[in-house]
Amino acid sequence: MTQAQTETREVRDTRQASETNCCVVGGGPAGVVLSLLLARKGVPVSLLEAHEDFDRDFRGDTLHPSVLELMDELGLAERLHELRHSKIHTGTIFTEEGQATIADFRRLRTRFPYIMMLPQKDFLAFVVEEAKRYPSFGLKMGARVEGLIEEGGVVRGVRYESRDGEHELRAALTVGADGRGSRVRHLGGFEQLKTSPPMDVLWFRIPRAETDPEGGVAFFGGGRGLVMLDRGEQWQVAYVILKGSYRQVRADGLVALRDKLAVAVPQFAGRFEQLRDWKQISMLSVESSRVKRWYKPGLLLIGDAAHVMSPVGGVGINYAIQDAVVAANVLAGPLRGGTLNVEHLKEVQRQRVWPTRLIQTLQTQIQKRLIAAALDPSRPFRIPPALRLLLRVPVLRNLPARIVGFGFKRVHVKP
Ligand SMILES: Cc1cc2nc3c(=O)[nH]c(=O)nc-3n(C[C@H](O)[C@H](O)[C@H](O)COP(=O)(O)OP(=O)(O)OC[C@H]3O[C@@H](n4cnc5c(N)ncnc54)[C@H](O)[C@@H]3O)c2cc1C
Repeated sequence: MTQAQTETREVRDTRQASETNCCVVGGGPAGVVLSLLLARKGVPVSLLEAHEDFDRDFRGDTLHPSVLELMDELGLAERLHELRHSKIHTGTIFTEEGQATIADFRRLRTRFPYIMMLPQKDFLAFVVEEAKRYPSFGLKMGARVEGLIEEGGVVRGVRYESRDGEHELRAALTVGADGRGSRVRHLGGFEQLKTSPPMDVLWFRIPRAETDPEGGVAFFGGGRGLVMLDRGEQWQVAYVILKGSYRQVRADGLVALRDKLAVAVPQFAGRFEQLRDWKQISMLSVESSRVKRWYKPGLLLIGDAAHVMSPVGGVGINYAIQDAVVAANVLAGPLRGGTLNVEHLKEVQRQRVWPTRLIQTLQTQIQKRLIAAALDPSRPFRIPPALRLLLRVPVLRNLPARIVGFGFKRVHVKP
């Protein structure tokens, strides 16, 4: 049994459910951070997570400068840095025509000029341990939300299943932070606007040697795209494949995959030999979407539940946490004072929708112009001249690092 399980404090049962002000569905980055922030402000909050522990499927391990600054505002940055992690200071792209550093985080004005690579399960457990210090925080692991309680067009809580049976949890506000396949989004009947990225991604790890390049490196061209993130003794590798081609990749077999990888990055050919089982590989079906409206009376969506992000720039965790911070800033007072209304929920969307739209528009352009070109074996891949120019102009060259590091809008925890 994991630490998270043994120390789980049961949320109040059905009979006492009316005492819960906010029910957060999903213990991913958005859900745990929102729960912590509300609990700190004395708002009774109950977090329901479907899994029994935080060691769930791979979901990315990046914490960007914006998240580290937020942790600092909460007085948690130093303790977070005591956990075993590695740091990425630069992002470099290698093509047939040479290499270029496209993001240099060291030039950002921040105490944390790097991306911290920390296993997401450790980050989630860390935030939850912190939340447990507050008496208004309740957590139930292994609790899968299956229904919404709706009365007169207002969501009044959820129905969930756990090992000990079916439960109802009533709350003034329910927050769907249950990720890209959000059940809450589906139950609430939210309309999604989707775009169709041209790729899917295979994630896996290979050993890293001391003599390897540092930071984040990308190899593009010749019909292939690979991004590798430095995790100290390992590389976290994202291998980009054409949308919908995973079945074919599986059918061709692991040997064929290893051969393709070796052709794409010959200097790592030996390391790809470590891939011996499909269980070592996670497939990310790349999606990009957002809901038109993030709320309805009594219900709000945040994080991937509100907007599924393409992996370009690795900003999903960043954006999910920024949503949580804005939601806590706007909603803690009304939740505590019992004055919450739909205008407060609308305000959360108002603050978060345009940074989301901007980053998704940028990701779409990068997918169309850079990644689709890299996956086309019929023509040589070149870094677009506009990007090369941008990287040469001193006032503009920090833009990629700034957008990846902070998103389009920096957010702060309201004191
Ligand atoms: C393979 C992969 C790699 C990725 N790599 C990166 C990366 O390197 N950097 C980055 O920034 N982003 C990455 N992402 C995206 C990132 O994981 C998401 O953007 C981020 O996790 C969103 O956080 P969230 O809290 O909104 O949702 P999630 O992290 O998806 O959390 C949702 C939680 O809700 C729980 N849940 C679901 N349904 C229910 C239910 N019915 N009842 C109760 N609980 C429920 C789930 O178990 C889960 O714990 C990656 C995603 C994938 C799939």
